This record gives sequence, C-alpha cells and structure tokens, in this order.
Amino acid sequence: MVVTTRFAPSPTGLLHLGHAYSAALGHDRARRSGGRFQLRIEDLDPSRSRQEHVAGIVDDLGWLGLTVDDEPLVQSRRLPIYAEALERLRAEGLVYPCFCTRADIVASLNAPHGDAGARYPGTCRGHLEDPERRASTPHSWRLDSAAALERAGLPSWREEDGAVFHANLQDLGDAILARKDAPASYHLACIIDDAASGVTLVVRGDDLRASTPVQRLLQMLLNLPEPTYLHHSLVSKADGRRLAKRDQAPTLAAMRAAGVNGEALRGDLLAGRLPLGFAFPTA
Ligand code: GLU
Repeated sequence: MVVTTRFAPSPTGLLHLGHAYSAALGHDRARRSGGRFQLRIEDLDPSRSRQEHVAGIVDDLGWLGLTVDDEPLVQSRRLPIYAEALERLRAEGLVYPCFCTRADIVASLNAPHGDAGARYPGTCRGHLEDPERRASTPHSWRLDSAAALERAGLPSWREEDGAVFHANLQDLGDAILARKDAPASYHLACIIDDAASGVTLVVRGDDLRASTPVQRLLQMLLNLPEPTYLHHSLVSKADGRRLAKRDQAPTLAAMRAAGVNGEALRGDLLAGRLPLGFAFPTA
C-alpha cells in the first residue's frame, strides 16, 4: 500500500539517534511503497523553539540521506487554521475554558502523580462560561472528554502490523487544546496537519503512544481521516537510560562533525544495528 509519512520534530534542541531512527523508518516506509515523506516543524512553543534548530534538522536529514517531498510544513505559520478547528469544537460544546494554573491543578490532584501522568480533575468543566472573565483572565481551552465520548464513542487505532488498540476511558483526560501562550496544543495541531498533509501512516516513538487515544478522538470529532500508526521502540543508552535532548544525548550534529557516515548509520538503524553504547529496550 502506498503510504505518506512524516517526521515531525520540535526544534527545541539538536536531534539525537532516536530521531534518526524515527525519520529513517518513516522515510523507508514512504520510499518502499512509492509514497511521500514529509517534514513538519512543530514549533508551537515560542519559548523553546529556535530557528537554528530548524536548520540543524534539515542538515541532519540530508546527512542521513533522507529526501523530503514537498515544502516542510511549519506549524507557527498555521495558527488561524488551528483556531478555526477550535472554534468548531467550541460551537459544538466540546471544549471549555479552563482558568486553573498549573499549581491549582497539582494541588487538586490526589498523590501520587507525575507531570505526564497527572490528569486534570475537571475543576472548570461544567462551569458557566463567563465572557468577562475570559476577556480578562488568561485561560486555556480543554476538550470536554465526556461530551466528546458521548458524541464519537471510544476511539481505537490500528498499528502497521494489523494490531488494533481500543482506548480506555482512563486514557482520555480533558486534554488542553489551546493555551494563552501557545494558541494550539500539540494534539490539535498534530491531527489537523496529519490530515492536511495526507499522512496515512504516523511513524513515531513509543513515548507518544499515550497521545494516540485523544488524537484519534479529535480526528473523529473533526471528521478527519484515520491514519495507521507505527509506534516504534525508543533508542536508549545501553544501560537502559532514555535519550533526551536535555541531557546531552550524543547528537547527530556531533556524529556528523566526527566524520560518521550518515547514510551507513541510517542503513544500520533500519537493520536494527545500533552504535556501541546504545540499545533498544528489551520488552
Ligand atoms: N513533535 C513531537 C516530538 O518531537 C513529535 C510529534 C509526533 O510525531 O506526533 O516529540
């Protein structure tokens, strides 16, 4: 089957081996099927995105021998499109304004909770909308997951290998779809752009699997086509630690500067061979 894939990095740091693996897989699937491989710059967080990292991403892909079809899609240039989708959801009563601060949310949750695992307790859901308060107080917009589920039903998705996953109620919180400082959230922008680019196979790391239920639900609410997913293993250090931009995981830029052959590296990654010191976590 002909597939369109995309690599969608956030330009908040230099890319590492895990990104190379993800991009190589997406490119491989597209090329093997005679389809398209696209690049999307997910730069919606103005405080963390840097133009110099966009240039670095393009250089890294070139070094790996990956060719991109079409002009890269840059999310910060598409804010009106996301706003329009949010407006549609608002008109249908599927989102609500939330005035909670991060501290409010943390205080209202029962321990134990972690940052990623913390689910919004729904404090602002069902409160009457107050236009005056909205005009004067910073707020975000959240998906009313109960209303959304009533409308669309529980989402499911299919992985490339044919496995079908059904989301549970617990997988779905009242996700933030827009914030004062970031007018569209990752979830909202991601599904709109996947549809706009005709992406039929979403290739991304296992760490983003938890995003799939809410993204599928949003696709259903906005009548967007359903892609297939390939959530791939994350590359980790041989001692099992995750690669992360923030703890200086060896970057592709550093490997390039050290004279590593990018195309050979790509072939190794696709064959499941990782450089010394790295591993795929064993299940
Ligand atoms: N921008 C996300 C990241 O860099 C990837 C989003 C996606 O592939 O859906 O982690």
